[in-house]
Order: sequence, then C-alpha cells, then structure tokens
Amino acid sequence: MRTLPAYLQGISRVVVDATVANSVLAQRVRERLGNLPWEVLAEDQFLASGLAREDILYLKNYKGRFLRFCPGTSHYQCCGYQIIHIGENCPLRCSYCILQAYFQDRVLKVWANQDDLWRELDQAFSAHPGRRFRVGTGEFTDSLVLEPLTGYSRDLVEFLANYPQVCLELKSKVVDLSWMDKVKDPRQVLPAWSMNAPFIVEHEEEGQRATLEERLDAAKTCAQAGFRVCLHFDPIIYFPGWQEGYAQTIALIFEYLRPQDIAYLSLGSFRHMPDLRRCIQENFPDSTYIYGEFITGLDGKQRLLRPLRVEQFQFLVTALRQGGLDKQLYFCMESDEVWRSVLGRTPKDFGGLYRYLMDRAFEK
Ligand code: SF4
Repeated sequence: MRTLPAYLQGISRVVVDATVANSVLAQRVRERLGNLPWEVLAEDQFLASGLAREDILYLKNYKGRFLRFCPGTSHYQCCGYQIIHIGENCPLRCSYCILQAYFQDRVLKVWANQDDLWRELDQAFSAHPGRRFRVGTGEFTDSLVLEPLTGYSRDLVEFLANYPQVCLELKSKVVDLSWMDKVKDPRQVLPAWSMNAPFIVEHEEEGQRATLEERLDAAKTCAQAGFRVCLHFDPIIYFPGWQEGYAQTIALIFEYLRPQDIAYLSLGSFRHMPDLRRCIQENFPDSTYIYGEFITGLDGKQRLLRPLRVEQFQFLVTALRQGGLDKQLYFCMESDEVWRSVLGRTPKDFGGLYRYLMDRAFEK
C-alpha cells in the first residue's frame, strides 16, 4: 500500500452510503485505505451515528446538481465559471477558508455516485455542442487534495476528452500530477495553484499544503508538458510587510514560469461575511488580519477599504507587469472603478469578464 501524503493521514475511518458501496470510486478508496475501519451505513444511520467528525471520509450518494454556476456575488464583476461539484470540505486548514462558514461540519465528503455525475455532464454538454464551458472542481473542496484516494480528477479529465468544448480548471494547494497521463489534449485542462505572500502561506495556510516553490515547480512541470497554468492571488491580505512578501512571491513566479505559460492570473482581496469572521476568530485566534480596516460592500461582504485595496492591487500589478504579465490579469469580485484605476480597463472593454476568461481559457 502506498504511503499517503501527510495531509491525508488524519483520516481514521471511512463511511460509505450503502447505495454506493459497490461503486468504482468506493472500491478504489477501499483498496487505497484498506487498513482503516470501513462502515457501510444508510444515510439516515450516518446522520444519527455521531460520526460527523473531521477525521471521517464519507463516500456519499449525492442527490443534488453536480454542475452549477459559481455563486459569485452581486454588484461586482463575476467571472461566470461553472462548478463541477465532486465533494465537500478539505483536510487542509487555511484560516481564511470560506468552507468553514459554508458547511456545518468538517466531514470530508466525496460524491461516489459518479455514474450520475457522468450522466448529468453528458446531458449538459451534449445539449449545447457549440457552446464552450469553463468548469472547475475547486470551489467546495481543493481539486486535488483527495486525489491519492479517489482519483477523481483523473476520471474527470478522461471523461472530458469526449467534450472538446469543455475546459477544466483544477485548483489546488497541493501537488498531485497523477491525473496528467489521462489527458488527451492539454488545452482542455488548466492546472491552477493559489499564490500568496510567504508569511501568509506559513502562518495562515496550515495543514501540510505544498510550499510556494513546490506549487510553482509543479506548474512548471505542467507547462513543460504543454499545459497552460493559472495562478490565483486570492485572498490578498493586508499585513505588516505585505509589500516585501508579495514582491518575493512574484519574483519566484518568474523563476519558474514564462508569461506565455500562464492562461490567467486572478487578484482578489480578502473579503468575508460575518459568519466567516466568527469562524476565523474561533478557529484561528492568532489570525489578526481580520481586525483590519474593512467596509461593507454592496454585496454585504466586508472588504478592505478601497484605497488600501487599490494600493495593494497596484503594487502587485506593477510587479506582475514588469515580469511580462498583463492580459492574463483580472480581478475577482471587484467594481469597474477598481478595474479602471488599477488596470486601466474594465471588463466591458473586452466584452465582459465571462467572455474574456472563456477566450483566455480556450486560447482565442
Ligand atoms: S486549500 Fe482551499 S479548500 Fe482547503 S482549507 Fe485551504 S482554502 Fe479551504
């Protein structure tokens, strides 16, 4: 049995919905975690069992929609990408993680009824053969964190080979490239890694995530194999010494990647609803960035004061432009005013953010 990465070694037991106990995915997890207690339960039994703990891996028969639009936010420019929902929660521990506020428990859930997923995706993609889809799995979990157990991304890239109008983004803070050999056309997959200042990675991203160097080295491996990659500076955090920190990370990016290796790079300032703030206070009492100067935005979320946001964005954009990135840059959830004052353009200038990112994803 292969050794699991450290971030998966906290799993102590697997629970499987009886209806998916014989699924391909459940059998695969069973082979890979054969040393752990394995329980087959009906869904209501699980809910009554008191097993809803974070050391449980729960293979579930998911009954909701697998393909959905990203929740985005009102009043701000949203990128309109679609989520392929493969599971919930994450064994890493980033203090700013929105999932703390989204979900009531921290149980690692994986949707094991993949046949239903394939059916729904086939219906959606086949119904619109001329339409392009930009999809991703890194919204309600990290795209690759459970890959050593589930092989989910590997299955997904293999499935998507039949739908050339679909481009899949795999967004992660770990390094797992085991899905690569199943990709027929590298233009269909955008491996993506989160970037931040070294201080934030060290202090706010606990839980055995990959270092910045490891993430960028993996990105370089992908680029050398013909993929274009995505990078996400999100959340950008205001902390003492942020200039040096973000400058260091940007310099590191250009040690590993050429501008043409990067399909797009997002910039998003830390933003939060009151629920997330409460979770951070309770779960990460040493995280002080939540006591910064925030203002309530039009969507009800707290954001750093605009002059401070713009100051940070301008600093990062200047350094990124010096390295040769420009057309790849976009803001996540920002207003036209911020776009104009930092990038000198707004999404309207290129037909909207949705279209722009679609064109970048499909190299148009
Ligand atoms: S890697 Fe992503 S999903 Fe996992 S804890 Fe960090 S922010 Fe949350």
